[in-house]
Amino acid sequence: MGKRLLIATNNQGKVEELRGMFAGSSIEVVSLAAFGNIPEIEETGATFAENARLKAAGYALATGLPALADDSGLQVAALGGRPGVLSARYGSEVSSFAQKIEMLLAEVLASGSQDRSARFVCDITLASPNGEIVATKEGICDGLIIEKPRGSGGFGYDPIFMPLGYEKTFGELSSAIKSQISHRARAFSLIMPILRDYFGILT
Ligand code: IMP
Repeated sequence: MGKRLLIATNNQGKVEELRGMFAGSSIEVVSLAAFGNIPEIEETGATFAENARLKAAGYALATGLPALADDSGLQVAALGGRPGVLSARYGSEVSSFAQKIEMLLAEVLASGSQDRSARFVCDITLASPNGEIVATKEGICDGLIIEKPRGSGGFGYDPIFMPLGYEKTFGELSSAIKSQISHRARAFSLIMPILRDYFGILT
């Protein structure tokens, strides 16, 4: 069996993070950008796991490759866990992440809650080319929402998220640190043994 694996996301930030995690591995990573006109799979699930499965199975069937898809988002305690699975669509009326961040901070303030705790959650699914689900794994990164954005690294809500045990936001921490402690890194490390097994890699 070939060792080509589709990274089934249109989010360039995620492609780069996941590519980095495969550095040094014998798995050849292919991104969706390598395929011209694949219709986007709708994220209609109610949970991260459901959406990850929908995307992995859908893109595997569409490309004929084993596919790894993640669904992730930010859960803010003061907002009862929102935006959660709707993180990418939060504040859909505004386009830039700087504006979405501003809206989210305003909402936290308006909630009146002093609780700044939040967590990033990531579910990763591996599906085989026939769309069958091989496995789903979840990673969580706990932290706090800070009052003003800091740093320009990463993507999405990174500038307002400070992981527990650090004094810097994901926007300020290096990509090397983020790729060790993030929700995606944790989910990835749990699915890596399954990928090795799937591709018949011994070490
Ligand atoms: P998905 O592409 O449906 O999984 O949406 C994920 C959304 O959650 C992204 O668009 C971001 O808004 C947010 N998100 C997920 N992971 C991260 C991260 O590592 N940093 C910042 N935002 C993230």
